[in-house]
Amino acid sequence: MSAKIIDGKAISLDIKQEVKKQTEQLKQKGITPCLAVVLVGEDSASKVYVNNKKKACDFCGITSISYELPESTKESELLELIKKLNQDKSINGILVQLPLPKHINENHIILAISPQKDVDCFHPQNVGTLYTGGKCFLPCTPAGILELIQRSGYDITAKECVVIGRSNIVGKPVAMLLLRENGTVTICHSKTKNLHDICKRADIIVVATGKRNTLTRDMVKQGAIIIDVGMNRNEEGKLCGDVDFENVKEVARAITPVPGGVGPMTIAMLMKNCLTAAELQSYC
Ligand code: NDP
Repeated sequence: MSAKIIDGKAISLDIKQEVKKQTEQLKQKGITPCLAVVLVGEDSASKVYVNNKKKACDFCGITSISYELPESTKESELLELIKKLNQDKSINGILVQLPLPKHINENHIILAISPQKDVDCFHPQNVGTLYTGGKCFLPCTPAGILELIQRSGYDITAKECVVIGRSNIVGKPVAMLLLRENGTVTICHSKTKNLHDICKRADIIVVATGKRNTLTRDMVKQGAIIIDVGMNRNEEGKLCGDVDFENVKEVARAITPVPGGVGPMTIAMLMKNCLTAAELQSYC
């Protein structure tokens, strides 16, 4: 039997509609959530991402303010802008679109953003809070993955979860969230031996390698749930993931497509974090 296709577009729309409703309620109390979006340089993919984030803000009723800075912007100038945004009470969230031009140190920028406005959850304070089990913003892509699994009706408790990839933005935080939901988690990477055998025993597999066909049908247990984070191009230039979708869907219980799976969730979770930021700051 072919797998259920987990529809990230539909689930992300549900979440954005929930955020829209809660934003309207917050506005009735005189609070309008506001996100500052900072783009440095001319990277065309970054421009598309930033545009999509602004559109999502419009949909949810969240104000977005854009700062589009030239490629030649100095690190000190960007730090100055962030300082200003940190102090500005009308700004609830700050998003600096990565990657930044090479002459700007991304770590310096991430560290400069106030943890209370760090809606991407990249600041070490928020990352630490996530790892120690406290309450903080959840990183957008990993949180979106959790929503995809849970809103599709699958329980994570006691499940064998395998995460392929150990990056700071996807692999590690998604492993931490699965652990928090009581999964038994194994993290794999490019040096892992017996990836095939490790995957074969998994109930849930999250693949985030950026390499096509990392996960093939022979590696998947009948009835497993497969989340494909990858964004690659095939020979025809078509967007595809890290999973051999056509063959794996024949053995999996549920699977996310690319496009239309994890991708739309990232922005929906960003909207959720903006709302949370505005709510939390309204108590201060
Ligand atoms: P990184 O390149 O930072 O990390 C890739 C990870 O995969 C590394 O830990 C690497 O291991 C591991 N890896 C690579 N090849 C293999 C292999 N053959 N077997 C096992 N492990 C392997 O990527 P990201 O985590 O940033 O992103 C992963 C993918 O997800 C990309 O395609 C990216 O575009 C996509 N993405 C999608 C998002 C969305 O919203 N849909 C958001 C973010 C990312 P090692 O550490 O040993 O090098």
